[in-house]
This record gives sequence, structure tokens and C-alpha cells, in this order.
Amino acid sequence: MSGQSKLSFDGGWEYSAAPQDTSMMQLEKQYGLFIGGDFVAPEEGGYFDTVNPATEEKLASVASATDADVNRAVKAARKAFEGPWSKMSAADRGKYIFRIARMLQERSREFAVIESLDGGKPIRESRDIDIPLSAAHFFYYAGWADKLQYAFPGRSAQPLGVAGQIIPWNFPLLMAAWKIAPALACGNTVVLKPAETTPLTALKLAELIRDADLPPGVVNIVTGAGETGSAIVQHDDIDKIAFTGSTAVGRSIQQSLAGTNKKYTLELGGKAANIIFADAAIDQAIEGIVNGIFFNQGHVCCAGSRLLVQEAVADEVIQKLKDRMETLIVGNPLDKNTDIGAINSSAQLERIESYLRLGQEEGAEMHQSSRSVPDAGYWCRPTLFTGVAQSNRIVQEEIFGPVLAIQTFRTLEEGVTKANNTPYGLSGGVWTDKGAKIFKMTRAIRAGVIWANTFNKFDPTSPFGGYKESGVGREGGLHGLSAYARLENRA
Ligand code: NAP
Ligand code: MG
Repeated sequence: MSGQSKLSFDGGWEYSAAPQDTSMMQLEKQYGLFIGGDFVAPEEGGYFDTVNPATEEKLASVASATDADVNRAVKAARKAFEGPWSKMSAADRGKYIFRIARMLQERSREFAVIESLDGGKPIRESRDIDIPLSAAHFFYYAGWADKLQYAFPGRSAQPLGVAGQIIPWNFPLLMAAWKIAPALACGNTVVLKPAETTPLTALKLAELIRDADLPPGVVNIVTGAGETGSAIVQHDDIDKIAFTGSTAVGRSIQQSLAGTNKKYTLELGGKAANIIFADAAIDQAIEGIVNGIFFNQGHVCCAGSRLLVQEAVADEVIQKLKDRMETLIVGNPLDKNTDIGAINSSAQLERIESYLRLGQEEGAEMHQSSRSVPDAGYWCRPTLFTGVAQSNRIVQEEIFGPVLAIQTFRTLEEGVTKANNTPYGLSGGVWTDKGAKIFKMTRAIRAGVIWANTFNKFDPTSPFGGYKESGVGREGGLHGLSAYARLENRA
């Protein structure tokens, strides 16, 4: 085994380490703000560190943008909008977006490594999901750029102007792609702010956009904390705000936009239920549950953080789930065997741990896998709670960690009632052998996306977004395109 460390299962299996090569990665020690086509120093905000949550080591320092920097970025975006970008033919705009997509594919492994280092997610996820899906979004929207008259028949689609975009840390590059690609396809220019803990792939995307020769100012990327996001929301010369993040911040953004002319879309939290009927293919469902809540550390807004299992198969499902949890490898995100990587930040780990305490205080029974986790870094073993009540906070509130709350139900109606009984409505999953039951459930569950006999599957052509407190508007597909256009009836 050439002296490499081994991951050993308590059950007796052993996996040799399968480290991802990182030699292709190029990171600067310090990053400025990407404004007007170049990296520039912040006017007064200074720099902050971004760390690897698996080791707590510093990766780079990045600029903290203040109001003055956001103002510079908005001015650059306005100039590009009024200048080259809106004067260019739609076909040419499309070519630039295609170029970004192709270059992202060419550099995909470097982006995957940096995503895993900065955010803590397993390389398997960043390599197989985040980066390919990001490229797919650019490809998809590039294709629409010169076909808007077919996207919206009988209407003309005009760009809105400058879009301000604020994204979270759980899918850093993918969220940037979801936001930038449709905005550019409709002829807008953008100012994007990545999350404080995961700025690096957005900054690498800025380098790529510069290398793709996009006209300066079409895409501007400003790093910083919540105040930077707030400066974007408050800026007078922004025409549209696209936000993905927590419901609390989304609500405050909605309040501050009330009474302005700014259009907005908000993608917020979720508390999705995976609903398993007794006639489901149980082993397949177990994999769906594991994929839905444990992979990516549960850092997924549409995570299947609740399990509703029909009473007749509850004991079987819970036992199989516990057995499967014992086989999940928690550890080094850059090892290709790893199933569950690092929790994104110490603050998020504290938040998850406070919910673990709360669940027990509420009277639920907690079960965690017995596997070991590394000493340094932020980690949480896969965890499930049984014996929970519908009113418990661990059933109602988003935890955003690898924590599953399990309830049972007897009839389809009871399953629907329990599934719908939270403030959220982003996603859901139904597992059954019967097509008719799938149709009944998908009509009755109030959620933007419902998967049947699978979970967490994404495609750029399909719209995504929530009911109730999960958000306003849709991203992806034609719906996501219309969110960046002013549609006027053709005379
Ligand atoms: P968050 O605190 O709401 O932050 C999201 C983004 O907004 C970050 O860039 C953040 O900057 C910025 N921000 C913070 N305060 C702000 C303010 N007052 N005004 C403007 N911007 C502000 O959420 P998070 O903790 O990063 O992400 C986790 C949450 O996102 C979860 O609740 C999850 O469900 C949700 N989410 C939803 C979707 C979806 O599509 N519905 C997708 C992914 C995540 P800092 O990073 O500097 O704080
Ligand atoms: Mg980081």
C-alpha cells in the first residue's frame, strides 16, 4: 500500500487512500475585486482569509468590498451594459457564453479541486456534479441568447440592465453559473457576490471570464461579507436582485426592495420530506435517502432532511439506514472514497451541533454512525432522529447538516399532511411502485420540485424554486430566463 494511510471500516473492509492530484491547481496568495475586467485593490475594506474547513489552514486572502467598491462595480456594469454588451448581436453574446462553458470544461478538474478545498465537499461531488452542471448551465443558456423570440413567442424580450447577484456557500460555482448564465443570455450585465467562506471558484471564474475576452464590466465579482451583499441590494442603479441563501436574509432583502422598481428572485431554505411507501423498492430508497441528506454534508437547500416512512416498513427502513450509515466515509474531501466531507465553517458546525442538542432536549432519540472523524477541521457524523413530533424544531427548521428527522405515517393522506406541515416548500421525494400514487402525491405536495423514485437530480432545462417561505420566482429553464427579461407584447 506504499505507506499511504488506509481508511478502515469497523466491519473489516479497508479502502486504500485515493488522493486527488492537486498539481494542476493555481491559487494566488491574495485576490482583489474583479471590476471592469481586471482585478483591483479594495478602496478601504482590506482583506480577509478564506480557509480550508477540512484542515483549518488558510488558502488565500480575498478583498472585502465596501459601498465604494460596490459602486465602482455597478458603474462598470452599467457602462458595459450601455456600451458593447447591448450593442453586440445576440449571436455574438451567445458565442461568449459558449466560450465560458467550454473553458470551464477544459479547466474542470482545477475548479473541482478548489471547490472541495474551499468549501469542504467531497471531490466526487464537485468533480461529478458541481462543475459539470455549472458548464451545462452556461451551454444551455448560451443556446438561448439568439433565440429569445422563440423562447417567448409573440413577445419581445428586453434585458433589464444591471443584475446584482448574491449567492451562498453550499454550491459556490454552480450558484454563480445559475445566476450569471441566464443574465448574460438576456443581455444584462452583472455584479456578483460569492459567500464569505467560499469565494475562490467565483474568483477563478473571474480569471476565466477575463481569459475569454468578455468585454470589461459585463461580469464583475466582488467578495466580502453580508454588508457587501447589502450594499448591492441597496444600490440605486441596479435593476434586478437575484439572491440565494437563508430565509431570514431573503426576507430582509424583500423588505428593503419593497417600493422600488427592482425585480427580484429569492431562492431560500427548505425542509423536504422523502416519503417512502411500503410498496417502494426499499434498497433503492435507502440510497435515495442517503444521497438526499448525507452526501454534501446536508448542505443542500433541497436536501431530504425529513423522512416519512410508511409504518409497515419503518423498522426495516430504519435498520437498513443505520447499517448504511456505518459504511459512509467521513473525512478528507480530496480523497475519492470520501462520502461526507467537512462542514463548511465552524459557525455552521456550531449551528448543527446546537440542533443535535435541541433534538435530544425535545425528547427525540438520536443515532449517529460510530465512525471516526479527523481531529482538525469541522466534521459531523451522519445522524438520524427517531421519535420526533411534527411540532419539534428539528422537524420544522432547516438544519443544513447531515441530520435526518424520521416520522412514520399510515395513509397517503397522513403522509401528505405531514409532508406539507412546515413553513417551507422547496422540494420533496416520493418512493413507490405505483404510478398513480406518484401522481396523487406530486399534486398534493406543495413544493417546487418533487422527485419520484430518485432524489436531487438536476438539469439546466428544468425550473427550480420554492413555495411558501422557500422563495419567490424560479431559476433554470425558460422560467429562469424570463426572470432576466422585460417581456413586451409585440405590436
Ligand atoms: P445567508 O446567510 O443568507 O447568505 C447568503 C448570501 O447572502 C451570502 O453571500 C451572504 O454573505 C449574503 N448576505 C448575508 N447577509 C446579507 C444581507 N443582509 N444582505 C445581502 N446579502 C447578505 O445564507 P448562507 O448561510 O450563506 O446559506 C445557507 C442558506 O442558503 C440555507 O438556508 C439554504 O437553504 C439556503 N440556500 C437556498 C438555495 C435555494 O436555491 N433555495 C440554494 C442554496 C442555499 P456572507 O457569506 O458574507 O454571509
Ligand atoms: Mg473557505
